[in-house]
Amino acid sequence: MKCSVCDGRAVIKIAYAGVHLCEKHFSSYFEQRFLETIRLLRMVERGERVAVAVSGGKDSLALLYLMSKYSDALGVEIVAVLADEGIRGYREEKARAAEAYAKKWSVELVVRSFREEFGFTLDEAVSALMADGLKYKPCTVCGVFRRYVLNRVALELGADKLATAHNLDDEAQAFLMNAIQANLPSIAREGPRSGRIHEKLVPRVKPLYFIPEKEVLAYALLSGIESPQVECPYIVYSLRHQLRRWLNEVAEQDPGVKHRVIALKNSLAPLFERGGSFRSCRACGMPSSGEVCKTCWFKQYIARLLASRQSACCAARVNHFNV
Ligand code: SF4
Repeated sequence: MKCSVCDGRAVIKIAYAGVHLCEKHFSSYFEQRFLETIRLLRMVERGERVAVAVSGGKDSLALLYLMSKYSDALGVEIVAVLADEGIRGYREEKARAAEAYAKKWSVELVVRSFREEFGFTLDEAVSALMADGLKYKPCTVCGVFRRYVLNRVALELGADKLATAHNLDDEAQAFLMNAIQANLPSIAREGPRSGRIHEKLVPRVKPLYFIPEKEVLAYALLSGIESPQVECPYIVYSLRHQLRRWLNEVAEQDPGVKHRVIALKNSLAPLFERGGSFRSCRACGMPSSGEVCKTCWFKQYIARLLASRQSACCAARVNHFNV
C-alpha cells in the first residue's frame, strides 16, 4: 500500500481519516498534531517549567521525547517525574527504561516512591486490601496515590504545568468509567487542560489528548522507543482494562467510535458545574473535594489495615511460643 501523500510505502492506516501514511509523513503528521494541540489550547507558555509524568511505558516515553525535542521551540524547561508505586516485577523494569531514556535525552528525572510518601508500597497496600475483602480495587488506590505524588513533586520542583501522556483511548475509557459510575464532576473536570483551581494543584495538560493510542504506539516504535514487555499484575482488577478491550473491539468495526465518545464528553462537560470547588484537606493541606482528601483517607485506612495485620501476626507468634 502506498502513502496517500507520496510514493513511499505506507506503514500505517489512519482509518478514521481514510489515509495511509509512510514513516516520514506519519511522524510529521503526528508531531504537528502534538504541537497544534499545545498551541491551540495554550497548554504551556514560554518561560514555563513543565513537569512531564513518566511511567516507563511507551506513551509517556513518547511524550517525554516530544517535550524534550520541542522544548526550545515551545520555550519551556522540562523535568521528568516518576511515581514508584512499589509493584514488584513491574515497576523496577519500567523505571529502568524511564531512567535510561531521560539520560539519553538529557532530562532530569525525579523519582518518588509510595514508600517514601506514604510509608508502604502498593504491593503491601494491596495485600492488606485483599485480606480485608478488597473493598477498594488496587487501581483506585494506585490512581489516587499516583496523582498525589506527581502533583506534590511537581509543586516541589516549582513546575508551572504537569504534562501527562493520556491519549484519546485513555480519555474515552475514563469517560465511560465515569458515566458508568455516574461521576459527573469528573466528566466535567477531566479535559485536555485544567486551570489553577487550587494554589497547591499544578495545572495539568495532556498534549496527546486527541491522538489514538495506536498512533502513539506507532510513533514510539518509529522513533526507536522501547519499553519492557511487563504488565502490572493488578490490571486484571481494573474496570478500565475491560472497557479498553471492549472499545477496541467496537473500533475494529467502527473506527470513529472513540472520537465520537470524546466529542460527546466534550459537549457534555460544560453542562455540568465546571469541576466543582476545591478546598484544602484538613490533614495535609492539599486540594480536596471533601474535608479530608482521598489520599489521606486511603493512607489512614491502609495504615490501619497493615497495623492490625502486624498485631495479629505478633499475637500468633506469641501463641506459638506459649504452646
Ligand atoms: Fe496502578 Fe492499576 Fe496501573 Fe497497576 S494497572 S499501575 S495498579 S493503575
